[in-house]
Amino acid sequence: MDIIESAGELRARLHDARMAGARIGLVPTMGYLHEGHVSLFRQAVLQCDLVVASLFVNPLQFGPSEDFAVYPRRPEADARIAANASVDVLFMPSTEEMYPQPPVVSLTLQGIHDHLCGRSRPGHFEGVATVVAKLFNLVQPHVAYFGQKDAQQLAVVRRLVRDLNYAIEVIGCPIVRDVDGLALSSRNVYLSDLERPQAAVLRRSLLLAEQLVSQGETDVQELLRQVREVIGSAALATIDYVEVVDPDTLTPLTRLAGSGLLALAVFFGRTRLIDNTLLCVPTP
Ligand code: AMP
Repeated sequence: MDIIESAGELRARLHDARMAGARIGLVPTMGYLHEGHVSLFRQAVLQCDLVVASLFVNPLQFGPSEDFAVYPRRPEADARIAANASVDVLFMPSTEEMYPQPPVVSLTLQGIHDHLCGRSRPGHFEGVATVVAKLFNLVQPHVAYFGQKDAQQLAVVRRLVRDLNYAIEVIGCPIVRDVDGLALSSRNVYLSDLERPQAAVLRRSLLLAEQLVSQGETDVQELLRQVREVIGSAALATIDYVEVVDPDTLTPLTRLAGSGLLALAVFFGRTRLIDNTLLCVPTP
């Protein structure tokens, strides 16, 4: 595996492969890799001739009171994990390499960031869209892989590709979970010994909603009430939001017809965890 820190070197490395007709896959990450990231690498390796993983903690997507400075970092271990997963190129730029000057040009979004995490984290998805666009321009992949765990991010990236005419196929990959159902996340490392077991309540609340929908419940208020009740049973949980939205536009739904994305963000202490599931109304 090649470890590359400069944009110029990355372009040079990919040029020959592109000319030879290689199908290039990109997996953007912020590092502190876990099995969730590895599942994306594996899928990319299966479907592409050359896989680029990027590892960059993007300052643009963190608010002033968020965890940019303390976000967990362990580049050496990440390089080993990526190499073991058969990633071909690990792109690990510094902040100065990605933003040699404070950006004058960046992307703005309309509507799609008004709900869910976008409301709690102003500017976050515009930072995400801008860095993903930069990575798309640098790597020019044929396929890009993102986790469904960050469902709003996936929806934003799909619109980025459509609205700016990137010739890139975006693949959403299933959420990888710990044995008790907690979605794997680099931020799980922040959880205390008391908080960690309680965080499993998130998955239980999603499973209850899935069960209620399979039994015919379509009233979103009732679903949200029951989901909130389950989460509330964990003493250390503080709900940021629980919403059911249209899976593509992310606008809130009042009644389920077809499918709806149930998404939540919950604090355990200062650690904010997200999770989601797609609720599908059973066809008669
Ligand atoms: P991050 O490093 O947290 O920015 O995540 C990089 C990519 O990995 C994003 O597309 C995430 O959605 C994806 N990802 C993170 N956690 C998981 C997980 N538990 N299962 C599947 N994909 C994940």
